[in-house]
Amino acid sequence: MDFKESAKKLHQKIIEWRRDLHRIPETGVDTPQTEAYVCAELDKMGIPYRKGLGRHGVAALLEGKNKKTVFAVRADMDGLPIREETGLPFASENGNMHACGHDAHAAMGLGTAKLLSDVKDQLEGSVLFIFQPGEEGCPDGPGGAKRMLDDGAFDDPVPSAMVGLHTGCIWKDFVPGEIGYRSGGIMACMDRFEILVKGKGSHGAYPHGSIDAISITGQLISELQTIVSREIDPLEPAVVSLGEVHAGTAFNIIPGECRITGTVRALNQETREFLARRIEEVASGVASSMRGSIEFKYGWEGPAPVMNDPSMTEELRLAAAKIVGEEKVREIARPSMGGEDIAFFLEKAPGTFFFLPGCNEEKGQTWPHHNSKFDIDEDVLWIGPAVMATMVFDWLKKQA
Ligand SMILES: [Zn+2]
Ligand SMILES: [Zn+2]
Repeated sequence: MDFKESAKKLHQKIIEWRRDLHRIPETGVDTPQTEAYVCAELDKMGIPYRKGLGRHGVAALLEGKNKKTVFAVRADMDGLPIREETGLPFASENGNMHACGHDAHAAMGLGTAKLLSDVKDQLEGSVLFIFQPGEEGCPDGPGGAKRMLDDGAFDDPVPSAMVGLHTGCIWKDFVPGEIGYRSGGIMACMDRFEILVKGKGSHGAYPHGSIDAISITGQLISELQTIVSREIDPLEPAVVSLGEVHAGTAFNIIPGECRITGTVRALNQETREFLARRIEEVASGVASSMRGSIEFKYGWEGPAPVMNDPSMTEELRLAAAKIVGEEKVREIARPSMGGEDIAFFLEKAPGTFFFLPGCNEEKGQTWPHHNSKFDIDEDVLWIGPAVMATMVFDWLKKQA
């Protein structure tokens, strides 16, 4: 099946979808307008769907010859609370912004659905299209992937393979027209932890009557960094960053409590669990050596490291080579310590998350993700669907 030509023919339509979605960015899982737009386009293609998953997510099912073998294609579709400053003719009209390229992901998800629905008589299995809100996180609980799974997105049918992509400039040594792939850990976990340091408050003039939560915290901050520098293999990526330290009310009061929050990033589950355990042990040890104590909370509800399955990654590489040519399909040498909640889906079905470079410096697209001037090169919008449709089609054929 040659999806290269059919994807190129669909290119203008994909651009149109992307621009329509770009005008109406919604944040978190509150994406009713985006959901309605996606559903209306799926209606036109005659693809049935369940909506309202994880509040406003959509799971559409394209049934091919074999209904038991199911391949999932995931596209996220949420924007960010950023006021757009691109000056584009189709710039956001509502004060939010698609500053991470998820408008393009949703448009390419629709493009993939269209390409495959046009050949569904020849499709040796079914395809589950996931249009996911809340990838950028939600202030009031888990992100969109977890919520969609909790609402049964992967329950009936259960997919046995999956693919997803990110465009933009995450890996800067790639240029538009190429495809980046990587087997194993490609993005890190995104965990939040909280340490409440507990001592005993006192008058600033009488420190001996206190258990100083600030002194304990001072020791703790430097000790925590030794977990990464002294306990982790230097060749294993690991990050412990503190983001908040809150204590005190006045200059002459020694506070009895201090609250610290931070994030852990790791590329595999083993390192992730080690860091979580050691942060608690070190914090507790430092606090008790100074007569204090801690309360510790680790947010396991954050996404795990994004783990790409080796054989699915090879499938992706083969499909991408058919579309852009072998020499433009390159391995991502260094994973990103950023996170992606596609990890939740990849824990359920082996798959791969790949990179579609989408920032063209010659077109002035030099702004980073989550910047008010972020933009992507629409010339790549046919490539993602062509690669994903090829991968899905070929893989289903091999299972037949
Ligand atoms: Zn983002
Ligand atoms: Zn993103």
